[in-house]
Amino acid sequence: MAKNPSALHEIPGVSQPKTMNSLSAAKIKQFRATKNSVDEFVENIFKGNIPFLSKAITLVESTHPKHQEKANEIIERCLPLANNSVRIGITGVPGVGKSTFIEVFGKQLTSQGKKVAVLAVDPSSSVNKGSILGDKTRMEQLVTDKNAFIRPSPAGTSLGGVAQKTRESIILCEAAGFDTIIIETVGVGQSETVVHSMVDFFLLLQLAGAGDELQGIKRGIIEMADAIVINKADKGNERNAKIAQAAFDRALHLYPLKDSKWQPKVLTTSAIENSGITQVDAMIQEYILMVKSSGFFQQKRNEQNKFWLLSTIEQQLKDSFYQNPKVQKALSEEIHQLENGKTSPFLAAKRLLGREL
Ligand code: GDP
Repeated sequence: MAKNPSALHEIPGVSQPKTMNSLSAAKIKQFRATKNSVDEFVENIFKGNIPFLSKAITLVESTHPKHQEKANEIIERCLPLANNSVRIGITGVPGVGKSTFIEVFGKQLTSQGKKVAVLAVDPSSSVNKGSILGDKTRMEQLVTDKNAFIRPSPAGTSLGGVAQKTRESIILCEAAGFDTIIIETVGVGQSETVVHSMVDFFLLLQLAGAGDELQGIKRGIIEMADAIVINKADKGNERNAKIAQAAFDRALHLYPLKDSKWQPKVLTTSAIENSGITQVDAMIQEYILMVKSSGFFQQKRNEQNKFWLLSTIEQQLKDSFYQNPKVQKALSEEIHQLENGKTSPFLAAKRLLGREL
């Protein structure tokens, strides 16, 4: 864990040595994770024991049905202690300064006695299958902070699957006493939407000096943001930062007021000079106070839970359908018929879905 300073894998081209390929490493991890009983896991997670928390997350991430069963039991037992946190989503294009920002922001929070967990949603990391290698210079202070826990993105083939695992990990982290959960994601695809659906506050990092035209970020993401933080507003770059701030402020005012009644704010920071971070912290606290007293905080969490219930059902229906050997056989037969022009996609689908399995 301590060797992995970023919660995201962004180091392409580094393969694991043959003797420790990702498969065998994963197997070793899984073997270790199965030794302890559910009671042991739960007791130790409640005590804030990090190695147990890590092992429980490994179970959550495992594709082995026995591990999943155990993970489900642990999660269920952890639920009563979950929910007591502020969940913050942070997104932005690679290079905008997410890791640097999370490092200083995280340190700021731990210095107030808070406990910070940093998780990541990065479906592209499935390429390196949860590689433990990373750029050692990132988040190096937070990684050694005993009140911080940093976990890279789980490996997975689908964004839905990766997101589901992250969501379950949130519960485990909260049960272990983490009161601030930061979910980091790269602002390049669909992952922002799923992260938005699991956090209380969604923060978009942007760059100073490129304020004209929203830097290729999709409008939908700007609309989701509760705040835009213009990073790299270093000394000497204040003018550009102010221009960007004004541009984004104008852009945000074009959207109708959010259900939360919160008017999204645009702040500036220099993560590298550690400036503006206190203001970001204060803003998030102001938001949380406001939505807790209006009841929106709980309402949003309830809606998110409903959304996750439905998407879990959808995911599991799909999995149990496609993983069924009878379906697999019938599906390949139907595809064959389809290729020979002997059936239509709709008839084939109807037949497959209507089968007695
Ligand atoms: P990420 O890819 O979004 O996680 O970005 P990183 O945190 O890795 O930062 C990318 C580069 O930008 C690194 O070289 C950082 O040192 C640099 N960086 C991050 N924050 C700032 C900042 O506030 N000012 C300046 N000048 N550089 C920064």
